[in-house]
Amino acid sequence: MNTAIATRTYENLIDGRWVGAQDGATFERQSPAHDLVVGRYPQGGIVDLDAAVAAARRAFDEGPWPRMAGVERSRILARVADGIRAVADDLAYVEALESGKPISQANGEITSSADLWEYAATLCRHTYGDTYNTLGPDMLGLVLREPIGVVGMITPWNFPLLIISQKLPFALAVGCTAVVKPAEFTPGTTIRLAEICQAAGLPDGVLNVVTGPGSVVGARLSEHVDVDMLSFTGSTAVGRRVIEASKINLKKVELELGGKNPQIVFADADLEAALDAVVFGVYFNMGECCNSGSRLLVQRSIADSFIEAVVERARTVPVGDPLDPATKVGAIASEEQFGKIMELMDAGRAEGARLLLGGERLATEQGRFIQPTVFAGVEPTMRIAREEIFGPVLSVMTFDTAAEAARVANSTQYGLSAGVWSRDFDTVIQMSRAIRAGTIWVNTFMDGYPELPFGGYKESGLGREFGRFSIDAFTELKSVQMHLGPRTNWWHRPAGEAAR
Ligand code: NAD
Repeated sequence: MNTAIATRTYENLIDGRWVGAQDGATFERQSPAHDLVVGRYPQGGIVDLDAAVAAARRAFDEGPWPRMAGVERSRILARVADGIRAVADDLAYVEALESGKPISQANGEITSSADLWEYAATLCRHTYGDTYNTLGPDMLGLVLREPIGVVGMITPWNFPLLIISQKLPFALAVGCTAVVKPAEFTPGTTIRLAEICQAAGLPDGVLNVVTGPGSVVGARLSEHVDVDMLSFTGSTAVGRRVIEASKINLKKVELELGGKNPQIVFADADLEAALDAVVFGVYFNMGECCNSGSRLLVQRSIADSFIEAVVERARTVPVGDPLDPATKVGAIASEEQFGKIMELMDAGRAEGARLLLGGERLATEQGRFIQPTVFAGVEPTMRIAREEIFGPVLSVMTFDTAAEAARVANSTQYGLSAGVWSRDFDTVIQMSRAIRAGTIWVNTFMDGYPELPFGGYKESGLGREFGRFSIDAFTELKSVQMHLGPRTNWWHRPAGEAAR
């Protein structure tokens, strides 16, 4: 038992002040690897959320942030990036304890988050509209780009700091204000981020954080009439509820949802590289990853030897204490998630897939751990081929032709990402075109760059994050049509009336 782990107590940030829930209620989080309480947070309710929205509304309607020169906003966002880096080790520690992910992966997540803030800082000075000097001698058209307003943000527990950093700095860059509702399991680093933002000089009310249950705080944020846009990352099921609630004032909705992503390995690929990426792609973050490469499609001519190599490699992946730097697979985040993974593994067995590795809970004194698992002989119709398992479980299928691989790749409701492994130029281009997903990795897997848009086709989402495209997400366009000189196009002017 790791007795050095302490419980930290957090508060919400509303209108620049650190506060508990109005009724004093709190909730706790146990480390899923150590069964110890690691955090205590305000159990926010409707009153707290309403206060946060009112603060964000005021900050948007009357405050300096949306009106500030881009260069000033840029400096503040760059200071946030520095602030994240200054406490990176501690943020990674909190992330590992709350989520169960290995500390080495938490470290990578914090570094990537800082990079997102640094990149978004550059966008503050590149938010611009358009002009039309072609409308005739007496007209000028201006297209003004303006911040959309108050943005509600709801995030999941699997990459807490990274996912809020995919939204918040981009919304702030263009002058929006925000109310953030982090996941109940992992609010710690989002609250720490708010501290960093405050220290960096973000004006009061621009960023507000309210912790609490999704069904109360998240639901209220989704339906709130003073919120102009809702940016949600989470499950497809809750995404649907968010859309429903948002209808009340027709707020703009941007959704990053689930995935059932294929890695497609052709016989001519660099098979050693593909092997490493397949194992990484499905077991990284315990498979609790929207981009998890949870389906392996392997060409039949190499299937037997490649699948055997995957099983042998997966057998040696170190599973254990997230705080051990050597660990690659940590604890499953919650009892509910653990139950869902076990249920889907049972479904795989019942539907006739061949279990080649794992399929069991690991016997440990504390926490919930699942051995890396491989199912072969999977058919596209099976639940383990269609449903997001969100656990360390690989479903292996085979194919003969590229057309068949593309058909199987596209045979789920999801369309988030895919990996294609081949040395043949035509094959990778044709597959990249054929697969209906927002990201295609070619001879690599799960890289991410702030420059490149990210989001899903089909039921994996609505809209895109990152890059200059995120400016579109968080802005409105306003057309200003200006007449120059004396009026030339009279609607009704009685005959003979002179100009005044
Ligand atoms: P979830 O949908 O259960 O919860 C996400 C957030 O929604 C949490 O903050 C939760 O409190 C809140 N919520 C719950 N009920 C709500 C309601 N009625 N109204 C508003 N908010 C509500 O998801 P999760 O279990 O936290 O995360 C796992 C899911 O997230 C997976 O499906 C995964 O694929 C997806 N995900 C997608 C991406 C992406 O970028 N596409 C990234 C990470 C995770």
